[in-house]
Amino acid sequence: MDSGTLKKIAETYGTPTYVYDEERIRENCGKIKREFEKRYPRTRLMYAYKANTNLAICRIVKNEGFGADVVSGGELHAALKTGVSRSGIIFTGNGKSAKELEFAIASGVMINVDSLDELDTLEKILKKKNKKVKISFRINPSVNPKTHPKISTGLRESKFGLHLQDDVALDAYARAKKNKNLEIAGVHMHIGSQITDITPFEEALEKLMQFVLRLKSELGIKLKFVDVGGGLGVRYKDEKVVSPGNFAGSITKIFDSYAKKIGYTPGLWVEPGRFIVADAGILLARAISIKKTPYRNFVNVDAGFNTLIRPAMYDAYHEVFVVGKSGGKRTYDVAGNLCESGDILAKDRKLPDVRRGDLVGIMNAGAYGFSMASAYNSQPLPAEVLVRKNRIELIRERGSYEDLYFKQKVPKDL
Ligand SMILES: *Cc1c(COP(=O)(O)O)cnc(C)c1O
Repeated sequence: MDSGTLKKIAETYGTPTYVYDEERIRENCGKIKREFEKRYPRTRLMYAYKANTNLAICRIVKNEGFGADVVSGGELHAALKTGVSRSGIIFTGNGKSAKELEFAIASGVMINVDSLDELDTLEKILKKKNKKVKISFRINPSVNPKTHPKISTGLRESKFGLHLQDDVALDAYARAKKNKNLEIAGVHMHIGSQITDITPFEEALEKLMQFVLRLKSELGIKLKFVDVGGGLGVRYKDEKVVSPGNFAGSITKIFDSYAKKIGYTPGLWVEPGRFIVADAGILLARAISIKKTPYRNFVNVDAGFNTLIRPAMYDAYHEVFVVGKSGGKRTYDVAGNLCESGDILAKDRKLPDVRRGDLVGIMNAGAYGFSMASAYNSQPLPAEVLVRKNRIELIRERGSYEDLYFKQKVPKDL
């Protein structure tokens, strides 16, 4: 995005503002979809809503032919509101409430069961309502995805999924098979996010396909789909990333190698989130003040970990630039405006001479940016803007001070 556009956005809508590039989102969708479909026509792409749940973004991705991977009743609501078909939605989560399960049943979407206890709750609700749903089970493949611990989800110690060990997962399928209210449709795994090494992914998928084989040979279960989750990493700094072509190649090769043994061709579901939106978003902030201390130089901006939590939460690196300026003269820390010493958005960055009032862009902020934002320190939520071919559109108004009291009630006698 050119500096003219960014300046105009800041003038019109203020800062901090998330700015997304529609073209880039569509390109990313196309890239991953093509790479899979040319190798394995029975692939279905499910966009992971938690990466960015703005309705305009969800609509773009839906129009590119994606289904939805949702992890809460709220995200399920968003997918339905976006217009994703029921058959294109899978509901995952390790702690779905009875209320959320009832919502999923009423909506007729795929329920991805995470535990035996959840299966129990689901069975009870279905019996009472005399309803039938399609299910899959999330498997815990017990591999180390070699990514940040906070985004590793397929470790054997992880809270997610049913273990293959001791036949826990196999027994769950055997039990579900006996229940007339359940239609077993698939199996699922998701080993983690920002994966930059394909080896653990392959290791996990091998285990999953071995399991699919056992489901067929021992229980006579044929699956409609095998869902391999998301996790494809993107380049934030200098990571060697896996290209969508290699990702698709690697997965479909394993699928093909099992096709004969399994004796049927299951659908392949993939759930990219970050890959679709990360590099399509910039967080635009303004330098409020520059502070040179005897030890460090700070650029204090009007965003913080309330706006973008990734640096504080995952020690994530985001490239920073000063709008309309180039070169790297001085080393700065880009500090957020929250009263927290951990509120540093970027550390030790060589930037051009930054002045009060300059616009600062934080790159690759389209995924897990706004969707993880909060109003901590009573900072209203940022605005979101979509840059389209020949126009700029506001897709979320900036939060107001009044919004900070949303749904609050003060007892009358106080
Ligand atoms: C978060 C999540 C994804 C998406 O992960 P990315 O790393 O953003 O691709 C996919 N599936 C499930 C179940 C998830 O929880």
